[in-house]
Amino acid sequence: MIDLRSDTVTRPTEAMRAAMAAAEVGDDVYGEDPTVLALQERVAAMLGHEAALFMPTGSMSNVLAVRSLVQPGQEVLCESAAHIARAELGAHGAYSGVTMRTWTHPRGHVDLDAVQALYAPDLGPYFVRTTAVSVENTHNFAGGTVLPIDQLRDLREWATGVGVGIHLDGARLWNAHVATGTPLAEYGAIADVLSVCLSKGLGAPVGSVLVGSADTVAEARVWRKRMGGGMRQVGVLAAAGLHALDHHVERLADDHAHARLLADACGADPASVETNIVVVDRSDAASYVERAAAQGVRVAAVGATKVRLVTHLGVSTDDARRAAEVLAAL
Ligand SMILES: *Cc1c(COP(=O)(O)O)cnc(C)c1O
Repeated sequence: MIDLRSDTVTRPTEAMRAAMAAAEVGDDVYGEDPTVLALQERVAAMLGHEAALFMPTGSMSNVLAVRSLVQPGQEVLCESAAHIARAELGAHGAYSGVTMRTWTHPRGHVDLDAVQALYAPDLGPYFVRTTAVSVENTHNFAGGTVLPIDQLRDLREWATGVGVGIHLDGARLWNAHVATGTPLAEYGAIADVLSVCLSKGLGAPVGSVLVGSADTVAEARVWRKRMGGGMRQVGVLAAAGLHALDHHVERLADDHAHARLLADACGADPASVETNIVVVDRSDAASYVERAAAQGVRVAAVGATKVRLVTHLGVSTDDARRAAEVLAAL
């Protein structure tokens, strides 16, 4: 089976497993796991921030990141298909009392005019106040689209002017970085707090990293423990993340090339594919998924008329070619 449902289906490579087995560990709730500390320092430095915190999932990381900017009863603005709005099961409301309002953009981009129109300053005890804007790069449900850096800089400038924080959901920020060549620290500079995933295209079995100021990270550490996310000898997992940073970032370019190949085979416009996600319009999505699976290619229906293909570490060039043949015939 060639599994194109998601880049979360990757399994750790032999070399990653060896790095995990060899990891030096300690009790990370005491702050004594050297491998976790090394991962945190490295990711913070890569993104140009003071500190970082290893998190079990990207969802928990986003929840703690957003709550660092938004008090209960305040709001965060985001794009309407954002992961924080659609795919975290209302966690920001359920745990943090955060409310949301959204703008909509077909490619998930920042629409600064819309953001400014939604923005609610402190108007006294009558209206919900906006204290943060959240952006997602790459944007998952828009099809792995890259948010243009100029747009993000304009948002940053405006947000600083009005005193609003910016959260960056960078689950696939690595893909944006590799696709555009924009340094990670330049993406990091537009956000007060951000989250990156190690378990998507980077191929680690578990883990995300929350990145921000030393104060933000210290507070997130308290909340992580409060939510039951304090982990002990978790260096075995951090080692997978460090291995991924050494070996699996630059190779994302292969995933992007494979995605263009698949788009072409499916009759989608390869130019619309910016990273490792391809969305194909099919009125027969459910049967397409079944017929592809019958020929050894797993793809996912996202809604009644769209099919999603995601390339990753577990899909070789030969796999991509074979999948392209199967999908072209469909
Ligand atoms: C996968 C993902 C997350 C976090 O997901 P977890 O499964 O909780 O690790 C957050 N944001 C985006 C855009 C994602 O694709």
